[in-house]
Amino acid sequence: MSSGNQRQLFETDPAPWEMDEAQEGHVAAVVFTEGPTDIFHYSIPDDQLDKVAVGKRLRVPLGRGGRVNTGYCVAVETRASLGRIKYKLRDIRGVLDAAPIVSSEMLRLAEWMAEYYLSPLGPTLESIVPAGVRGQAGTRQVTLLTVPNRVAARLTQLKLPPKQRAALEHLVASAEPLTAQQVAKAIGSTTAPVNALREKGLVDEQLARVATGDPDESSVARTEALPLNDAQQAALTTIVESLEAQRHEAILLHGVTGSGKTEVYMRAIEEVIQYGRQAIVLVPEISLTPQTCERFRSRFQRVAVLHSHQSDSERHWYWRRIAAGQVQVVIGARSAVFAPTPQLGIIVVDEEHDSSFKQDMPPRYHAREVALYRTHLANAPLVLGSATPSLESYFLAKKGRRRLVELPDRVLNLPLPDVTAIDLRTEFRSEYYRGAISRPLEQAMRLALGEQGKVILLLNRRGFSTHIQCPACGHVAKCPDCDIALTHHREGDCAVCHYCEHERPAPASCPECRFDGIRYGGLGTQKLEAEVRGRFPEANCLRMDSDTMQKAGSHEAAFARFRNGDVKILLGTQMIAKGLDFPDVTLVGVINADTSLHFPDFRAAERTFQLVTQVAGRTGRGTKGGRVLVQTFSPEHAALQAAMQHDYVTFAEGEIPIRGQFGYPPTGSMVRLIIRGESERLTLQFAQRLAEEVRSGFPANCAVRVLGPAPAPIARLRGKHRFHILLSALDRRVLRSGVKAAREAIGQPPDDVQWVVDVDPLDML
Ligand code: ADP
Ligand code: ZN
Repeated sequence: MSSGNQRQLFETDPAPWEMDEAQEGHVAAVVFTEGPTDIFHYSIPDDQLDKVAVGKRLRVPLGRGGRVNTGYCVAVETRASLGRIKYKLRDIRGVLDAAPIVSSEMLRLAEWMAEYYLSPLGPTLESIVPAGVRGQAGTRQVTLLTVPNRVAARLTQLKLPPKQRAALEHLVASAEPLTAQQVAKAIGSTTAPVNALREKGLVDEQLARVATGDPDESSVARTEALPLNDAQQAALTTIVESLEAQRHEAILLHGVTGSGKTEVYMRAIEEVIQYGRQAIVLVPEISLTPQTCERFRSRFQRVAVLHSHQSDSERHWYWRRIAAGQVQVVIGARSAVFAPTPQLGIIVVDEEHDSSFKQDMPPRYHAREVALYRTHLANAPLVLGSATPSLESYFLAKKGRRRLVELPDRVLNLPLPDVTAIDLRTEFRSEYYRGAISRPLEQAMRLALGEQGKVILLLNRRGFSTHIQCPACGHVAKCPDCDIALTHHREGDCAVCHYCEHERPAPASCPECRFDGIRYGGLGTQKLEAEVRGRFPEANCLRMDSDTMQKAGSHEAAFARFRNGDVKILLGTQMIAKGLDFPDVTLVGVINADTSLHFPDFRAAERTFQLVTQVAGRTGRGTKGGRVLVQTFSPEHAALQAAMQHDYVTFAEGEIPIRGQFGYPPTGSMVRLIIRGESERLTLQFAQRLAEEVRSGFPANCAVRVLGPAPAPIARLRGKHRFHILLSALDRRVLRSGVKAAREAIGQPPDDVQWVVDVDPLDML
């Protein structure tokens, strides 16, 4: 631990009598969540020593003024172990937490993240602990009731009125203490019978802090494990071997859509629970549907679901239950990888290729990589499941660093759906082509609906396809702050920036050339919805995208309507491509595959392959079969060809060498530096200096590519200019040390210029 720049807070060297040569007592090493990023040391007064512990937050003075700040205690050491230091240590002022809010295991995880993602330890710790837990959100004192054994033992002999008996029996049967209100609700009465039991001394009372909200713990019908097929059994055996050996191993479960991966996860988790350990299942936020959660709830008793719609107090409530070992399975999006399970037995990352596992704010971690290190610390297996593994994971599997297990077929020998391309170039020339839905697709939709099937239409809006363009001069309306095309919204007839939410009335004529036939060109989900409603007035159609799905619970409601047949056509963005399991979807249409194919990102082909494969996977899951029609201007593209053949391996084997030519992942490693600021000139100047420092920071003989600075594809965002520098090399350690060296050398950027480091970037905009 270095006391680094602590000295800089004192402008002059201390006088000799200020030197601290004490050898007695203890010191706390502290990091802060904002401001200075070094580790600071404070002495602990003897009477506070038993209160201080690693993982608690301390109140300590900082800076010349000695303003009191909160920091995390990351080590407690003896004063002697620090040796002679040139300034006087100050005392801590107080201890904020009664118990550590970060365990030593999580501290090690945070230290690893800080190192790997080049992010300071303090903010990294802060990102591990949810805000609700830090603030003890939404807890209140309640009285919890239990039935003492002496009462439970003679339950049948007790003479009680029926309501009181029902209350008592409910409490005896409950696995955990309950409040009077919970009992009353369960037996459908007031709290009077419960209070009568309390007065008679038949129940024990204890005070506890619980969440003010009462998270939904409604019980779900149990389901039994399904008999596994041979491939599933082989996958399970591989995982169980690693569990029994208590050996860390990363297993890549490559199973086509509908091959029964979830069933394998659940069986592996059953094993884990038998050892008294806990499981964490990470899914993309979008897949946190009631459907997924119910599947786990129906198999396991104590499941905690963590998602972003939860209030702080709900999170806190789950966090405490998880930390107390009362939860067997934690299901959640990215940040659930930090769930404080006391004895972690396995982590499953489902849809491991999904980009939502990467956090786009500091510390910009990828939950898959964090899960890898966490399972390494816990000697537990990590299971990465996907129908379309990330090329990163596949590449490592080929090199023997991930154990590859395959489920090549759908369960019950269901066939994979037929995928056919519709060449839009031909369609466009035809006089029948009107709007977004080609003639073959329209016919297929009529056929499917006529046979009582349901239809999913995917339109990935990321392709700038709702832009406002003048057909006379070609002018495209753009956001003044973000330099991206504005999107036309029908409701309110306005033009909206999808990065900064800048909004203005849609122009009636071209602002450039005054031509008054400006087109609200391209196609968005709203426009597609109008077209579908016009052509299929009798089939109810529902649109799902981030505009219509903002309210908590709106996904659930939408899926429920699709499931029960109230809605026959579901259309939307990639939100609808993942994880859904509806047996009677017989047709999937991809409206325009090119929107993702020609995106300015080296992963565009991979993303398109994934998207088409995933959305195709939503059909043919029942006895009625299913087919997929993909509209595109480039049907010969390798990614689409492979997706049509359901041939992941051919796609991966073809794509990896292309990446290799340019030093892109998975062959190489990448770090992206993003520099932004209000003044274009100052920002670019700093970016150039930074690039020079980075270039000169690497030893001459090592193979590192440094590109840039170049304007980022989104050159302006929220009023700031953005530049980026891309670094790639075969060895990521070289990259990290180079960036560290540059960071030391360059010092503070000018006011109003900021820069961030993104290790293993996914978002290249
Ligand atoms: P994946 O996660 O690979 O897409 P799922 O686990 O969702 O696949 O399984 C698809 C469907 O098949 C589910 O409805 C599941 O209940 C069912 N299923 C899974 N394993 C079996 C099995 N061994 N026998 C019968 N049905 C199964
Ligand atoms: Zn904008």
